[in-house]
Amino acid sequence: MTKYIFITGGVCSGLGKGIAASSMGMLLKSAGFKVGILKLDPYFNIDPGTMSPYQHGEVFVTKDGAETDLDLGNYERFIDVELTALSSISSGKIYNDVLNKERRGDYLGGTIQVVPHITDTIKRFVRESAKKLKVDIMICEVGGTVGDIEGEPYLEAARQMHREEGSENILFVHLVLLPYLKASKELKTKPAQASIKELRRSGISPDIILCRADEKIKKEHLKKISLFGDVDEEAVIAAETVSTIYEVPLNFDKYNVTGLICKRLNSKCKKVNLTNWKNLIKVINSDLKEVKIALVGKYVELEDAYFSVIEAVKSAGYANNVKVNIIWVDSEKLENKQKSEKEWKKLKKAQGVIVMGGFGLRGIEGKITTAKYARENKIPYLGICLGMQIAVIEFARNVLNLKDANSLEFNKKTKQPVINLMEDQKGILKKGGTMRLGNYECELKKGSEVQKVYKKDKILERHRHRYEFNSKYKKEIEKAGLKIVGENPKTGLCEIVELNGHPWFVGVQFHPEFKSRPTKPHPLFDGLIKAVIK
Ligand code: GLN
Repeated sequence: MTKYIFITGGVCSGLGKGIAASSMGMLLKSAGFKVGILKLDPYFNIDPGTMSPYQHGEVFVTKDGAETDLDLGNYERFIDVELTALSSISSGKIYNDVLNKERRGDYLGGTIQVVPHITDTIKRFVRESAKKLKVDIMICEVGGTVGDIEGEPYLEAARQMHREEGSENILFVHLVLLPYLKASKELKTKPAQASIKELRRSGISPDIILCRADEKIKKEHLKKISLFGDVDEEAVIAAETVSTIYEVPLNFDKYNVTGLICKRLNSKCKKVNLTNWKNLIKVINSDLKEVKIALVGKYVELEDAYFSVIEAVKSAGYANNVKVNIIWVDSEKLENKQKSEKEWKKLKKAQGVIVMGGFGLRGIEGKITTAKYARENKIPYLGICLGMQIAVIEFARNVLNLKDANSLEFNKKTKQPVINLMEDQKGILKKGGTMRLGNYECELKKGSEVQKVYKKDKILERHRHRYEFNSKYKKEIEKAGLKIVGENPKTGLCEIVELNGHPWFVGVQFHPEFKSRPTKPHPLFDGLIKAVIK
């Protein structure tokens, strides 16, 4: 029988519910439980696949091709699992399910309401996920902040589950902020108290309160929250901001969060083993040599848009005992007359370059000149998805002298479409969930640099794109030195290019960042860092 943990947040957004959920998942897995985790997103999009990165941050792709919230990336990295669409529920999906049933006539004669129809559907989705995954504990993170109108059906569904499953089988964790007031030089607990009351208004009594603060939390603060919030003192936990998110599980462990959860859920647990994590933190906090890696993209004002890439490149750094200093380069500014000088100065400081994935024309020429610069100056380069397509366009234009070379995405009339629309994308009109998504197999060419770092001949990597390398140009491009070193065995699609005679110039059609883990960096990021420090 599955037990459920619901995690809510109060006072304000951005407190790190996702990190808290991930950390608990990681600790419970280490304590011997089979853990499932899911995100309940209150928005009405079916998934974030059609949202702008500015709205939503990164779209995290699961192995089965679901486009999901970036929190799923944290879940995967902390718990070291590969999740599926079962871990991502949105109001869009819930309402869509209910409305489809209504049209089918499943509710003939009835009036459809938030309670019970929407709440029943939420409960069914959560329980079905748990059942399909056969987990002991299902962690359910409720997106948004308690008090949001959109989130109410989720809280109501959780309240009902508490009654139906029994209090031994449901646990509520509430995350709150203790703001610091400069004038009185103290942390304030009132907003947290108010937020706990707000949660109670929904019929939910929290079992554990996680107190977030940027300053030191004192015992008296915790006592106050325990008293006014009516939560046991041992279950009010100080979760002060730490230097790296990977310290959060260690901090929770200090407060015996695992023991607390097991006590409440009446479950037996093993002692957790955090040796790997402790070692990672030791490396992170040690005095490391710095390497500068430029991340070139067009959404650079919002780092969340590239969350998994940031984590992947940093992890690869730690595995090689260096600290990666990320230099953010705005590809649009690189091509802008007034702003380009400053941007190029930044780019030229970097010892390695990653050109990021993306969609649409904006900033494309800046990325193309970046690839040219890295190729000609033998700067280690990793092109991710669009970053691979860019490398091919640049090579075709400047080495093969195909001056009009482009992707059909950016110029429908190009005479040299080195990047083509995929055949099976041609009649597709609907934008949502229709790209080439999720895991695809790729065969690596023996003796290539990538095959050396993967130490395998066949790999599985996650995709999210519509366009592809145009195999009509394969011969010509390979002859000039840009080799196709990874191909899909079924379709022959080019998945990886690699430049001959360059220390590390690799473009991949997939997103390796999704499979990187804090203590097990992805081979391609590892390869980039190794080339940089060589
Ligand atoms: N816009 C490009 C394409 O579809 C690349 C997508 C990406 O970088 N994720 O195909």
